[in-house]
Amino acid sequence: VVELKDVHKSFGQVHVLRGVSFEVQRGQVAAIIGQSGSGKSTALRCMDRLETIDGGQLTVCGHALHDPDVDMKALRRDVGIVFQSYNLFPHLTVEQNVTLAPCTVKRKSAAEAREIAHAVLAKVGLDHKMDAYPEQLSGGQQQRVAIARSLAMEPSLMLFDEVTSALDPQLTGEVLKVMEQLAADGMTMVLVTHEMAFARNVAHQVVYMRDGRVHERGSADILRQPSTPELAQFISADA
Ligand code: ATP
Ligand code: MG
Repeated sequence: VVELKDVHKSFGQVHVLRGVSFEVQRGQVAAIIGQSGSGKSTALRCMDRLETIDGGQLTVCGHALHDPDVDMKALRRDVGIVFQSYNLFPHLTVEQNVTLAPCTVKRKSAAEAREIAHAVLAKVGLDHKMDAYPEQLSGGQQQRVAIARSLAMEPSLMLFDEVTSALDPQLTGEVLKVMEQLAADGMTMVLVTHEMAFARNVAHQVVYMRDGRVHERGSADILRQPSTPELAQFISADA
């Protein structure tokens, strides 16, 4: 579903991605970990073409993102992305936040969109909050609405960039539980995370980035038995 081949990205003189290669198979959960500034968010943003790459090849859900003629509309339909900040529309209810894109982008009828909203909000455990406004919800609930809003577009790939780092531990737990359920349902997911326990338990693949390169990658076992001293040190610093 996702394939990066020697991907490069610079911002001005700063060479942020220096030849990043890895693949994510359908149904797989890949966790990207690494120090601050190692290029994790940039790599993720490239996968949704929020950034264009300068070199290499990047294919996502069959779309060649290195191709300037890529069909952005089709890409937006196939890929959902959720960030640390939830960016819900404050003047819309939970239901309206979730139905907006299916109605406008996918041209669903109001009834169809409401049905989808109900289903995805049930999935994140918030179908009883359809009529609430974002400010009436906790941070964890708002983040779950943001996830539901992405799911409402029925994406084949979900990208998550540190979606729990603004939350306190209890709220983090509820959001991680939703993500774990998504993984169990077979959703293909790429997530940037500092939650090592979550990566260890849920990820099929762990990608350790360092200085804009993939320094080590493999199954979650590399978090238990890293082969490079750098990853070993990164893990022990977290513990
Ligand atoms: P963190 O764990 O702190 O989120 P990260 O691994 O996600 O870090 P990135 O956000 O990908 O790191 O940033 C990698 C490098 O790219 C940093 O040095 C950052 O300053 C630089 N960078 C990122 N976005 C831009 C931008 N839009 N313009 C200029 N430099 C940028
Ligand atoms: Mg980041």
